[in-house]
Amino acid sequence: MANKIIDLRSDTVTLPTPAMRQAIAEAELGDDVWREDPTVNRLEAVAAGKLGKEAALLTASGTMSNLVALLTHCQRGAEVLLGDEAHIFHYEVAGAAALGGLGLRTISNDSRGRLHPKDVEEAIRLPDIHHPRTGLVCLENTHNRCGGAVLSEADTEAVAQVARRWGIPVHLDGARIFNAAVALGVPVANLACQADSVAFSLCKGLACPVGSLLCGSSEFIGRARKYRKMVGGGMRQAGIIAAAGLVALDTMVDRLQEDHDNAKLLAEGLAGLPPLRLDPASVQSNMVNLEVEGIPAIEFQGRLGQAGVLATYMGGQRLRLVTHYGIERADIEEAAQRIRAVASVSG
Ligand SMILES: *Cc1c(COP(=O)(O)O)cnc(C)c1O
Repeated sequence: MANKIIDLRSDTVTLPTPAMRQAIAEAELGDDVWREDPTVNRLEAVAAGKLGKEAALLTASGTMSNLVALLTHCQRGAEVLLGDEAHIFHYEVAGAAALGGLGLRTISNDSRGRLHPKDVEEAIRLPDIHHPRTGLVCLENTHNRCGGAVLSEADTEAVAQVARRWGIPVHLDGARIFNAAVALGVPVANLACQADSVAFSLCKGLACPVGSLLCGSSEFIGRARKYRKMVGGGMRQAGIIAAAGLVALDTMVDRLQEDHDNAKLLAEGLAGLPPLRLDPASVQSNMVNLEVEGIPAIEFQGRLGQAGVLATYMGGQRLRLVTHYGIERADIEEAAQRIRAVASVSG
């Protein structure tokens, strides 16, 4: 344990389980562009069923699922409403603007990743010759830049109701929607039902090597399939990806609770420890956001790295720690001890 590197940068560093590797090796395959890969077809059916949607589409990444969703929902020149901390806004290379001709208009996210329904309503464009058309409202659950915050069914419904009243569709970036479902103890379909489309990731806490699913109505997914092809996401024997996805949906969802318990444990072990500031009560899923006071956060991150604890720099004075498959309770206890040691010489 003494020299082990404890990598808490992200749940994307997770490696596939032995059962996934075996399923990948044995997967029944075909050409998925021709819809002839039985393993992809099975994963898409299972994913749609779990999310309570009619259909689903396997894509290469969460970014691709979100881009394809935005292209499918919106005409060029439309405006997309989303939170100012949204992943789509910060981390997806403005693909919607560059490739889709879409405007991204931000509304402030509160600290728990929510959009205020009144702010959404005020941002919706009226039918005026001067204005772009509001084409889509996007939500995110769990909310990455808001520290893994969980949107409740009521939070989602409040915004969706406003959008529906104006005839505007809702896309849910649910890269970690299974974390949200586990945190709330509700079926994932309850968190998806207010959205017209939902994207979720296989390659984060679910520990697959690759993949994301976009879910929605059959009509919507039929059109999305063509946009996926347009952006180069039509894959051939993609059953080697889907095989791991099927194992993940079967075996990796319930264990997310362990990651949440570990994040809580870590936050409690670091509370009230200068130069760090964090509120353990704000930890709702598998992320712990830290504010560093007095020394540059980048420098503190470097010192943690030297002590064998890897964190992500989130801008400003913020660092992020993420728990995931492969990180055990003993690793968390060790990480907390190392962080406390670094803090005691940095305060
Ligand atoms: C990771 C993530 C994505 C994008 O997923 P990639 O597979 O990395 O492209 C989208 N949204 C959120 C909230 C994410 O955390």
